[in-house]
Amino acid sequence: MVTAPTPKTTPQPTVKIGQTKLLINNEWVESVSGKRFETINPATGEVICDVAEADAPDVDKAVVAARTAFTSGDWPKMSATQRGELLYKLADLIEANKEEIARLETLDNGKPYSDSFNTDLSLVIGCYRYYAGWADKIQGKTIPINGPYFCYTRHEPVGVVGQIIPWNFPLLMQAWKLGPALAAGNTVVMKTAEQTPLSALRIGELILEAGFPPGVVNLLSGYGPTAGAAISHHMDIDKVAFTGSTEVGHLIMEAAAKSNLKRVTLELGGKSPNIVFADADMDKTIEGAHFALFFNQGQCCCAGSRLFVEEKCYDEFVDKCVKRAQNRTVGDPFDANTEQGPQVDLEQFNKVMSYIESGQQEGAQMLCGGGRVGDRGYFIEPTVFVDVQDQMKIAQEEIFGPVMSIIKFKDIDEAIKRANDTMYGLAAAVWTQDITKAHAIANNVRAGTVWVNCYDVFDAAAPFGGFKQSGIGRELGEYGLQQYTEVKTVTVKL
Ligand code: ADP
Repeated sequence: MVTAPTPKTTPQPTVKIGQTKLLINNEWVESVSGKRFETINPATGEVICDVAEADAPDVDKAVVAARTAFTSGDWPKMSATQRGELLYKLADLIEANKEEIARLETLDNGKPYSDSFNTDLSLVIGCYRYYAGWADKIQGKTIPINGPYFCYTRHEPVGVVGQIIPWNFPLLMQAWKLGPALAAGNTVVMKTAEQTPLSALRIGELILEAGFPPGVVNLLSGYGPTAGAAISHHMDIDKVAFTGSTEVGHLIMEAAAKSNLKRVTLELGGKSPNIVFADADMDKTIEGAHFALFFNQGQCCCAGSRLFVEEKCYDEFVDKCVKRAQNRTVGDPFDANTEQGPQVDLEQFNKVMSYIESGQQEGAQMLCGGGRVGDRGYFIEPTVFVDVQDQMKIAQEEIFGPVMSIIKFKDIDEAIKRANDTMYGLAAAVWTQDITKAHAIANNVRAGTVWVNCYDVFDAAAPFGGFKQSGIGRELGEYGLQQYTEVKTVTVKL
């Protein structure tokens, strides 16, 4: 077993910690209970600071503010163009503070600073601008119905929207949710993930600076079973948008059903097949498969975590994949050479390590990695398993860590059948130079996104979401916007 080096420590840049309170009705307030909780730097295990902890009474306060903002005051009076201008302004403010915000994201989440800056922040800014452009292009239709009537539709905001986001892309998940919700004229009560509250609060400061009216955006730090459940059960929230585990997705939907039948959109887990044919450009495919799994410390719902490789190129592919994994630089996320930082917290670290143990117990062969890197923080060696069988836990369950599972297949029919043999359907990819094979996979694999000769290509204009138990509804693009409007039919007797 090859052991990756202990992370080097480079001098930590000073990271400015901004607000740590709750944002309700454009005011920074302590929680009703006065409770606070700690947020940890995953690279060291040390406490960064504590933040106000929201619970049900704070959700109630935020919902009152959001409802008031939805029905009266400046927000509903504002033109669609003005709503767009506010979103453009927010994007500009984020861009003006890009380095500082990227540092805060890296400190709280552990992802390499180069990823925070180049990938997350760029996508965040792009997402707010994309939806800013939509604000004044949300329109209904005129419909030629029978009789002396004039019939048309209006696309109205859903109302008060509860949004519950995860920790793997804190700023980006906030943008995917706030962008379309605000463009369409909704008001928001958002709960961030307990592991990563800080960057969202910094965006809260910029929301105030941009000039959004009171109560339009309310930001709550807190835990899932308390503040999160209070949102999903709330009788005066019209819709809940959730990104997280499939397990919690079930709870959200149950809560919506038991309360007020609020609209539900869910972006949940995945076990995405990444299918490599022998005719693919090998070097590009090795790099693509590496990126598909290891990007963001493996903490992606769409990670290419079932890597199906055609028998004809299996040995060569495995060999190169392992070498690439062994060369991955793991360490201080603020070091410019770092490709992989720590897992987000101890719980995730332990979970990933237990999957590594289970892979070995179930008879998969571990060709590299498997251990912890260093003795502080939550770093894990890039790990590659081969001879993985479909029924093994590491081939069935979402690991959410830097653990690659390589699976051999013989022909395309077998690849499609086994790719679909999962409760998930978030994403898939195929690597081949044969256009017929590429389209066969694109058409027959049941997943919300299929990448051909690429992976993790995201754009605010392209919808993303899951088939099967990977979710309900879509985010991003025009489809994502539709999830934030109600269609009203108006019929006028002529
Ligand atoms: P993970 O296991 O990766 O942390 P979760 O699905 O548990 O994913 O968390 C995603 C988000 O859902 C977080 O903001 C978390 O606080 C929230 N959450 C967890 N449990 C619940 C719940 N019972 N009700 C509402 N939200 C929850």
